[in-house]
Amino acid sequence: MNQTLQALLSLQDTDRQIYRVRAELQRLPEELKARHTKLSDMVTLAHRCRAASQHLRSQVKEIEDSVTVQRIRQRKLEKECNSEGVDAALLAAYQHEIRTVKYTVSDAEDEGLALLAQADEKQSQAEEVEATVIAERPDFDALSEAVRTEMTEAGARLEALDAQRTSLQSDTIPDAQLTLYKGLLERRQGEALAELDELVCQCCFVKIPRNLYVRLARGVDLVQCPSCTRILYTR
Ligand SMILES: [Zn+2]
Repeated sequence: MNQTLQALLSLQDTDRQIYRVRAELQRLPEELKARHTKLSDMVTLAHRCRAASQHLRSQVKEIEDSVTVQRIRQRKLEKECNSEGVDAALLAAYQHEIRTVKYTVSDAEDEGLALLAQADEKQSQAEEVEATVIAERPDFDALSEAVRTEMTEAGARLEALDAQRTSLQSDTIPDAQLTLYKGLLERRQGEALAELDELVCQCCFVKIPRNLYVRLARGVDLVQCPSCTRILYTR
């Protein structure tokens, strides 16, 4: 195999690892951020449920106050009915009003009970979400700690790989070939070389013409896959 190709293969090994470490350095904080967002969304939801529950309870309180007023009115009317000098017509009018007050009280009590049930539901929803947040907090703290450690380790690995890369990128690779390799590395997500097996590129699985294989076997110059443009090599 030609010497340049050999040197590029070693470089590719290191670059593959570099791409992997870089991907990890990007993925880890994203993963942590996603978990953090999930937790803070739950905290917001719990706050909203608590606020809704309190609002419903204050509505219930208003209804209870109006019911108290209506009951006082009812008792006053009942007293009027029993007072002296009330004729039949006035008595009928009082009784009609008492019935109206009773209906109003009954409707208000029904509404109050329905609102109270809603308030209880919102409160238990808030308590449930808060319990989940509390339960998940230690996991999140552990993940934060693990991510911090992994980031430090990955950073050190990347530094070592970068140093290794610099030493590999020796004079054995001419500038033009190195530029071609670097361009491919960038465009092909860290895989600039492709193995050729039985005339088939092992990266894009396209069959190459035999004359290209002959050129590759001669080992004079670098041969690129006509389909994915990666630099081809054989084992
Ligand atoms: Zn290919």
